[in-house]
Amino acid sequence: MATIDEPSRSTPVLGEFDVVVVGGGPAGLMAASAAARTGRSAVLLERYGFLGGAGTAGGLSTFCGLHARVHGEDRRVVHGLADDLYEHLALLDGLAPAHLTINDGILAQAYDISAYKLAADRLVTGSGARIVFHASAVGVVMRDDTTIDAVLVESKSGRHAVRGRVFVDASGDGDVAAWAGAPFEKSPGLQGMLYPSLMFRINGVDVVAAGEKPWRAAERLMDEAEAAGTHHFPRKRPIVRPQRNPLEWRANLTQLSNPDGSAVDGTDVLQLTHGELQGREQVFEAFSFIKQKVPGFSDAYVVDIAPQIGIRETRRIVGDYQLTEDDVLDCADFEDTIGVNGWPVEAHVAGSVEFRWQRGEDPRGFNQLPYRMLLPGGVDNLFVVGRCASMTHEGQSSARVSGPCFVMGETAGTAADMVLADGGTTRTVDVPTLQARLERNGVFLGRS
Ligand SMILES: Cc1cc2nc3c(=O)[nH]c(=O)nc-3n(C[C@H](O)[C@H](O)[C@H](O)COP(=O)(O)OP(=O)(O)OC[C@H]3O[C@@H](n4cnc5c(N)ncnc54)[C@H](O)[C@@H]3O)c2cc1C
Repeated sequence: MATIDEPSRSTPVLGEFDVVVVGGGPAGLMAASAAARTGRSAVLLERYGFLGGAGTAGGLSTFCGLHARVHGEDRRVVHGLADDLYEHLALLDGLAPAHLTINDGILAQAYDISAYKLAADRLVTGSGARIVFHASAVGVVMRDDTTIDAVLVESKSGRHAVRGRVFVDASGDGDVAAWAGAPFEKSPGLQGMLYPSLMFRINGVDVVAAGEKPWRAAERLMDEAEAAGTHHFPRKRPIVRPQRNPLEWRANLTQLSNPDGSAVDGTDVLQLTHGELQGREQVFEAFSFIKQKVPGFSDAYVVDIAPQIGIRETRRIVGDYQLTEDDVLDCADFEDTIGVNGWPVEAHVAGSVEFRWQRGEDPRGFNQLPYRMLLPGGVDNLFVVGRCASMTHEGQSSARVSGPCFVMGETAGTAADMVLADGGTTRTVDVPTLQARLERNGVFLGRS
């Protein structure tokens, strides 16, 4: 690609904080809240005008990974700050009862997207953290080879630096880690990276006509049409389900690919653009089938297409430990556990979704998450949390969902306080002390 040289410039400093968090998804909003609750000054930088990450911008409306099937019993296993978020959501009447999903194999929790936006605002501002919306991080300035000094942001106010002592990369894409020179992996687009989807919501469903468990009817009718050759859908195993309000359904049935069949890469602006255009075509094509064929949908309409295509996987940092598929399926334990993940491996492969469950006759149903998966190589004052934390492709296919992202975020915010208190690095944190603090805050470490 051709280049031009920009003139050098002095960049105004927007602020200086103990903890700077980039990205306000499930991982980032917990990181900022946890750090601020320790009394540290914390700022959360978010490129959109609301929090929630894929949970709002990607139109998800369901928390996965807060529950696990523990020896056959469905249990909430993610607590701590997630409990506070639940309370905020409940006050806004934004939660439905948890429901069984994936062939009734595990519980998930539907929420109202608008309520989630406000609940997240309240959680973060209530903790004392500052939020800066409409600010995209675009680079870092290093103090030395292993220490970040500032994150550069661009917004309608121009370009600024935000200085910090500890940083948390919750961008989903590992942006900060990559700019700081930390090693990362990216799966190949063909037969590698998880495929993105553009989510949409359907309103005006006739609940009575739709009958019981109508999502099964939608899936069956789509499968039959595909088999008969009358229709072709971008992916098998669609998830079309009622949400907080049963008149409103969410539809997760698109799959976004480049012309060569590879997964759209969420760190490539041209591929993102292609994905948005392709996604909207797929939404209306699939919806017209549902409207015509699925009972209860004849007067329904698309009430919302998510603000952006939902990206499942891009960069994954290579940190001090990479969570693997075996860890997930064998319900691994770690000395440095910070919480748990009960979601199965959910692989969005070309044209379909594959699920792989915890192994054994009567599995415990969750794996512990090690502190080391938050520590990027070569950078001393950075935590990387959420879907870009240190996991293999297969491990990430499980632990990328909301529950474990909440866990990772809360840990990073709490551990940041400890880094600042002893003047050390992310690697000198005394893990047993960290674990005791997390447990005091209600976090389930998976030990009992
Ligand atoms: C289509 C789809 C369906 C899914 N369904 C479910 C589901 O039903 N339930 C579930 O629990 N999980 C689901 N997931 C997975 C899950 O939502 C995500 O993996 C999870 O949100 C990851 O959280 P995160 O905080 O790591 O990143 P994200 O949620 O991606 O949040 C990253 C945040 O950082 C911001 N950001 C990014 N870069 C910058 C930057 N440079 N500067 C400033 N801000 C930045 C983004 O705007 C965003 O708010 C789904 C994912 C997709 C894509």
